[in-house]
Amino acid sequence: MKSFELYEPTSVQQAVGILAKQGNKAKPLAGGSDLVAGVMKDWVEGPGMPLPDALVDLTTIRQLHGIKVDKTGATIGATTTLTEIVESKELGEQFPLLTEAAHSIASPLIRNFGTLGGNLNQRPRCWFMRGPDFHCYKKGGDFCYSVSGDNRYHAIIGGELCYIVHPSDTATALLALNAKAKIAGPSGERTVPFDDYFTGPRVDVLRENILKPGELLTEVFIPAPAPGTRQAWAKLKNRQVYDFAVVAVAAAFTVENGNWKDGRVVLGGVAPVPYRAAVIEDQLKGKNIKSNIKQAAAAIRTVARPMSQNAYKVEVTQSMVERTILGALA
Ligand SMILES: Cc1cc2nc3c(=O)[nH]c(=O)nc-3n(C[C@H](O)[C@H](O)[C@H](O)COP(=O)(O)OP(=O)(O)OC[C@H]3O[C@@H](n4cnc5c(N)ncnc54)[C@H](O)[C@@H]3O)c2cc1C
Repeated sequence: MKSFELYEPTSVQQAVGILAKQGNKAKPLAGGSDLVAGVMKDWVEGPGMPLPDALVDLTTIRQLHGIKVDKTGATIGATTTLTEIVESKELGEQFPLLTEAAHSIASPLIRNFGTLGGNLNQRPRCWFMRGPDFHCYKKGGDFCYSVSGDNRYHAIIGGELCYIVHPSDTATALLALNAKAKIAGPSGERTVPFDDYFTGPRVDVLRENILKPGELLTEVFIPAPAPGTRQAWAKLKNRQVYDFAVVAVAAAFTVENGNWKDGRVVLGGVAPVPYRAAVIEDQLKGKNIKSNIKQAAAAIRTVARPMSQNAYKVEVTQSMVERTILGALA
């Protein structure tokens, strides 16, 4: 494994200072389950994806850790572990969707040290990107090997150029809950809705989010849901042990007399970013859910462009959306 300098700052300002000075030679480190145990140990690198010479440990910054829930919503520090999220009674009461999504991630051991910030910013799991023999777009190459290779688990929506799917389950849930990211960087702090946080290959094929060099995610804010909001999470995995989503559905919506009032349907495992299925929401708005859900779920076909081996994902997504939304009504 490549050797590296380890920095242990005690404040966000110190961390930002080190990251800004080192440029793309340094990376923030949280639990290390993806960055160290995955990317660095497996030497996943290329001109567009250099391995870092320095890691800036965020778990030594107390300010970045913890969960606060009040009437306005929940604030979760970036280094809060997935287990802490799963075990938070207050989060479970207000945001069962997030609790379930976090619980569906990896194994208890990984959830014990994997953090929310790390989960949201982890790199894609595409087997070509992670494989040593494929100099793909993500590593500075000029080809996506999934186009002619095994693309069973690749994107069915919004691919083009590179067909990764976003790996983070908490990202799918947080988008459905209309959450926001707080970012700290050399020019101060900014808050960005998760709707705008993740970026696809068309924006920049070398990255998956808007973070600039020197910036880090400090906390996540989830607004308190409107009274009576239905929340639901469903995740299909290839095997009944820890695994990433083949397809995930996160829905949060309000209902009036059986009609869809307002809400969000977000899909994981289908696109390079967590995909807000506005095409489904639009079909439901103001309408009776039970009588319209079939047609609404089928609207996913109007945006899906499957590859040679993953058309099954379109069928799966359609039926999972239908079942998840009906399940939340019961
Ligand atoms: C076997 C296995 C199964 C898994 N299954 C799932 C699954 O089903 N669903 C799922 O969602 N995930 C899954 N994961 C991914 C796992 O959840 C992530 O590895 C973990 O959440 C990353 O957290 P970490 O704290 O260890 O991140 P790290 O490895 O420390 O960091 C990951 C990336 O995020 C960056 N980063 C970390 N914190 C910040 C921050 N605050 N601001 C900016 N950048 C930051 C790092 O620089 C790095 O690039 C799985 C992983 C493994 C190994």
